[in-house]
Amino acid sequence: MEIIPGIYAINTHRLGRAYLYREADKLTLIDTGLTGRSADVSAAIEQVGRVEDVRQVIITHWHVDHTGSLAEVAERSGAQVLVHTLDAPIVRGERAGPGPQGAWRYLGPLFERVGKPALPTRVDRELSDGDEIDLDGGARILHVPGHTAGSIAVYVPGRRLLFAGDAMANVFGLRPPIGVLTEDKVQARASIRKLAELDFDIACFGHGRPLDRDASRAVRRLAERLG
Ligand SMILES: [Zn+2]
Ligand SMILES: [Zn+2]
Repeated sequence: MEIIPGIYAINTHRLGRAYLYREADKLTLIDTGLTGRSADVSAAIEQVGRVEDVRQVIITHWHVDHTGSLAEVAERSGAQVLVHTLDAPIVRGERAGPGPQGAWRYLGPLFERVGKPALPTRVDRELSDGDEIDLDGGARILHVPGHTAGSIAVYVPGRRLLFAGDAMANVFGLRPPIGVLTEDKVQARASIRKLAELDFDIACFGHGRPLDRDASRAVRRLAERLG
């Protein structure tokens, strides 16, 4: 699905989305969907270009519904893999990520079945807040911790566009990320306030439909509601 010219949502399963960003000289993939769905991701890429032309894969956070097909896509394309410093060790498989939070931790074994673990993958560049990346004339990385310690959003000011990852979800309306998998809810609210300070028209989420107009106003309303 083309959201705006050159930017495509890839539905890798019923709940989650990855995004493909086409420029004249390269393709950029933002997140990669669930394990075992790399054929879906590849097929979606091939409707637009070639997997071999994916030059960079930006991972918004380590969760398996975002990194599941990363190993296969990275290997096939040779793309640079970009992950925030705090989530990079989990993507590399150097340590496990935290499981479900609060009372839900007793249901850990249930959640393990939701997605098979992602295969460990190389990380070529570790990201920090404020980093510039080579996307559409320059995009900015925003560190938005809370959902995971190393969650990021990608802001493309030239297109008035934000990729929020799971810092928010647009499922039954715009809302904070799902609680059970969110490591720190106070931090997650602060991250929404941080995103509310930006100016953008379009916002894309890991879960739920993109907002295609007045998106920063909707984010500001959410931030005000959360207090
Ligand atoms: Zn997540
Ligand atoms: Zn997710």
